[in-house]
Amino acid sequence: MERYQGKSIYNSIAFGRLHYFAKAENVVKRRRIEDAEAEIVRYEAAKGKAIEELQVLYEKAVKEVGEVNAQIFEVHQMMLEDEDYNNAIYHLVRTQMVNAEYAVASTGDSFAQLFSDMEDEYMKARSIDIKDISERVAGILSGHTAKENIGEEPVILLAQDLAPSETVQLDKSRLLAFVTRQGSSNSHTAILARTMQLPALIGIEVRPEWHGRMAVVDGFRGELILDPGEELLAEYRCRMAEQKEKRELLKQLKGKENVTGSGRKINLYANIGSLQDLASVLENDAGGIGLFRSEFLYLEADDYPTEEEQFRVYMQAARTMADKQVIIRTLDIGADKQAPYFELEPEDNPALGYRAIRICLTRQEVFKTQLRALFRASAYGNVAVMYPMITSLEEVRRIKDISKAVKEELRREGIPIGDRIEEGIMIETPAAALISDLLAQEVDFFSIGTNDLTQYTLAIDRMNPLLDEFYQPHHEAVLRQIKMVAENAHKAGIWCGICGELAADRTLTKTFLEYGIDELSVSAGDMLAIRKIIRELD
Ligand code: PEP
Ligand code: MG
Repeated sequence: MERYQGKSIYNSIAFGRLHYFAKAENVVKRRRIEDAEAEIVRYEAAKGKAIEELQVLYEKAVKEVGEVNAQIFEVHQMMLEDEDYNNAIYHLVRTQMVNAEYAVASTGDSFAQLFSDMEDEYMKARSIDIKDISERVAGILSGHTAKENIGEEPVILLAQDLAPSETVQLDKSRLLAFVTRQGSSNSHTAILARTMQLPALIGIEVRPEWHGRMAVVDGFRGELILDPGEELLAEYRCRMAEQKEKRELLKQLKGKENVTGSGRKINLYANIGSLQDLASVLENDAGGIGLFRSEFLYLEADDYPTEEEQFRVYMQAARTMADKQVIIRTLDIGADKQAPYFELEPEDNPALGYRAIRICLTRQEVFKTQLRALFRASAYGNVAVMYPMITSLEEVRRIKDISKAVKEELRREGIPIGDRIEEGIMIETPAAALISDLLAQEVDFFSIGTNDLTQYTLAIDRMNPLLDEFYQPHHEAVLRQIKMVAENAHKAGIWCGICGELAADRTLTKTFLEYGIDELSVSAGDMLAIRKIIRELD
């Protein structure tokens, strides 16, 4: 048995035979040509054929992985029309008198290098797209367009790297998992793997000689295990059976409404921490995202994430969820979530300290950068913004002034934003709960953060394991506040959800429905079990 550690793209398990995907070595030879213009005509014809092929792939991908994920093939078509790319090819052909396939391959290499040298992770990941389109055109020009045949038996595919077009072309019914050496979790191949719900690992030094061996891909641990022993295999077989059972439940409940026997409906949304969680959100049929904890962007970085970096992440979430609501919470940093570059002073009581909206209101440049990115992303889907750790009306009014100013600034710059961006607040302090009648006049929705609401109501540090037995989210004081907040929201004509962990507490689902809660936002994995309970209630 051998174990290799990589990075997981999708949490699932597979067991099967390894198939090494060796790319057809399309060695492009440099040839001297006599007629540059005739060579450019050859290139244009091959490019036209490549665009047609990409259209076929786009249509295949729309059927298999949905329109949003298929868009990469439209992007590839656009890349092929890119002026700089085409000019570079014409220039090579005309000035060096070289054959079109050589000009395409070497332009592809230098553009790919340019992208991979960029700092921005998203742009870096585009390098493989440039290579992909260039290889396609060079392949057409030289007549090599062989497709990989993976045989009849489903396999775990090993590759040095996989381009999106290669991923989509493979016969999905014969694929158990992907394992590659290169690739990033941001790459389109990774996105496709997640959408296809196949376990996938990147960052493993795959070797051709592994071809044919049996292996387990453990997407939960990010591990590839070659020749697993019988004992380990038995354990994985159990886990795969559970996985199958969950999928069956999913099949029964997918697409069904969250409605009780008497017709009361409730929205079931998902909590996410990063784009990685989106596949599971779609898989579990969430009605939207109820809490996108945006602080992961700040915690993973070594410096403040730029507007552009943030915009891409929020936009991708919005596009992936299509017209479903995506509620993004602004930065909730401080207390247990520390990023060194914020240079926050040590505090005696960090949970009661300089955190979340308090940082945003005092370091407004950080807040405004995030708001600009969020509002820009709102042009690409149904984005809502939610503010954490609210305690007063004054804070909400200050936030609204800043938000209004940021929107006006974007409009002045001619940058499109959504027409109707809901802005809500988290009710996670007793102060906010107690004045929720007043706060409800100011915002579009409430989302109750029961984790902090319990901590602050009971004066119990939620991070202290010694206090676990005292931390009681079922405490009457917490439940009364939830009820009151929902009533005050409805009196003012706004909706009220819960996004703390209590939302997933199945013993309270009925109570929440009785309180009139409009939305529960839970981890994707809890979604269907709660749907089941709701559908069984009268
Ligand atoms: C909460 O406090 O309930 C909440 C959802 O926010 P977080 O857990 O991120 O503090
Ligand atoms: Mg909180």
